[in-house]
Amino acid sequence: MLQKTDRAGRMIRHECAFCGNAFWSIRPDAKYDTATCRQRALRWRKKMFATRQRLQRHATELAEYLDYPNARSAAAEYMHATIRQIEAELVMHGILEVK
Ligand SMILES: [Zn+2]
Repeated sequence: MLQKTDRAGRMIRHECAFCGNAFWSIRPDAKYDTATCRQRALRWRKKMFATRQRLQRHATELAEYLDYPNARSAAAEYMHATIRQIEAELVMHGILEVK
């Protein structure tokens, strides 16, 4: 987080932990520029946690089929397709380089 005090040494420049906007506050621990961003960040964290748990549960369910010879290749293909989809999303958002 970018922080800088003004000449009076009271206001501190912050970067909103959700939207990234710059804002000034006298509180050194200020994290969000608005109550809306605080609320959105809370909802986002809850949603991300739940989504990650669902993904992990689905991965575990698919992996169970890897132990059955006749289901193994289909389960592996579903898992690879999911990995490719996640990688494509990361590439589209500039987080992962195109292979
Ligand atoms: Zn914000």
